[in-house]
Amino acid sequence: MNPFATAALGLSATALLAGGALYAGMWPTSQIYGHTWIAGDDPSEVALTYDDGPSPDNTPALLELLAQHNVHATFFLIGEHVRRYPQLARRIAEEGHSIGNHTMTHPNLFRSSSATTHRELADCQRLIADTTGVTPRLFRPPFGARNPATLRVARAMHLEPVMWNVTAKDWQPLSVEAIIANIDRDVGRNQRKGRGSNILLHDASHLDTPQKLASRANTLAATAELLMRPGLRFIAL
Ligand SMILES: [Zn+2]
Repeated sequence: MNPFATAALGLSATALLAGGALYAGMWPTSQIYGHTWIAGDDPSEVALTYDDGPSPDNTPALLELLAQHNVHATFFLIGEHVRRYPQLARRIAEEGHSIGNHTMTHPNLFRSSSATTHRELADCQRLIADTTGVTPRLFRPPFGARNPATLRVARAMHLEPVMWNVTAKDWQPLSVEAIIANIDRDVGRNQRKGRGSNILLHDASHLDTPQKLASRANTLAATAELLMRPGLRFIAL
């Protein structure tokens, strides 16, 4: 083989490896970097999960909506937002929803050292426990980004890593119809495979500041529509 062909092969192998690492570290349903919890095998089961909260602009209305339907959801809270809005975090716990750890400051853990990951999880864990009285047992990595060390650190802290298998993409400026279409596509695929669904939604943004909070009105409207659907059983994780 001539050296150019060898070099070209080497290059594509490197590109493949890099692509594989990115897939393993970012793709929500990939299990290459270790097991993460996603969903059970009851196709009618749907877990509504809301990341990045709490937010005074969206969380109270969402809690009212869920209460009207007697449905419990899972909230992956950011420590910094719990510190800002402790009464909202307490209300989520008091109303019987599951609370998970979404780190203190929402870094990309794929690129973080084990020490940083540990500190991010430990600080958030302590704050949620002190604020709500609930010690989370679930952890969702920000952006879904993790590497094998991320999962080891979480497990050593008795935190189960949780990903998702339905991507609503509600962090983009999408219409209610577009959010619903994303959900229907992924839930339909899960049901055809005989799987339950775990829907990634947001009642806040990791970019929220006290001065500027993201509106999640369309997420709430999409949630309201889903809750009216017959044949679905909503579960908290
Ligand atoms: Zn997030």
